Amino acid sequence: MLRFRSLGSGSTGNAALVEATTSAGRTTRLLVDCGFGIRQLDRRLAQAGLAASDLDAVFITHEHGDHIGCAHALSLRDRIPVWMSEGTWLATGGRDYEGRLHLARDDAEFTVGDLCLQPFTVPHDAREPLQLRCTDGNRTLGVLTDLGHATSHVLARLRGAHALLLEFNHDSDLLAGSAYPAFLKHRVGGNYGHLSNTAAADIARAVLHDGLRHVVAAHLSEQNNRPEIVRRLMADALGGDEAEMLTATAAEGSPWLDV
Ligand SMILES: [Zn+2]
Ligand SMILES: [Zn+2]
Repeated sequence: MLRFRSLGSGSTGNAALVEATTSAGRTTRLLVDCGFGIRQLDRRLAQAGLAASDLDAVFITHEHGDHIGCAHALSLRDRIPVWMSEGTWLATGGRDYEGRLHLARDDAEFTVGDLCLQPFTVPHDAREPLQLRCTDGNRTLGVLTDLGHATSHVLARLRGAHALLLEFNHDSDLLAGSAYPAFLKHRVGGNYGHLSNTAAADIARAVLHDGLRHVVAAHLSEQNNRPEIVRRLMADALGGDEAEMLTATAAEGSPWLDV
């Protein structure tokens, strides 16, 4: 069985749990990003019924603070292996993880316990950002936040996924009319920034199939988005209730969802 849960998502911090349990009852837990302070992460893990010591590994998508957060402190405190790209590692100073750092790269599959992870490159203004396809060999979750636009490579890696944690960052009109300075509007809305709602809905539409069970909207801008706009676009893209649609908030994330 594969399930996941957002522990919070937005520019103030991102983290998601992915958990595989075998028929023999063996459980593997991966944390994708840990963009919070360590006490805040502990609190959010506790709300999910877990402690940091229950984690088998952490995967970091890129070096922005809302994703890498307390990765180094967590890894050292709880002796947890961490996976990230070499670019992400170098961009954060090439710190010593006491032998627990593993370098990930585009299309190089690796396993953590009973989880098979397939990182893939995305266009974003970080040094070597990777997003992640996660499978237990039966069900598949696609994690996709922090990218400026979809590429054929990105779409290919999400095809067949039974659940998506998908960035719906901003409404383009709200962003254009916001108080953000021009350079920031340009960065967020640019090809190496963040997905607009319509771009995200296009991705959902492109990878929609009968087996798609959940789409969780993630990384919503607090200033330049509204959950009701996201829900309307998701419903348009996914055709009503074929898949369960949820919006992960910065404060609370999402509940556990079976993939
Ligand atoms: Zn981010
Ligand atoms: Zn980012």
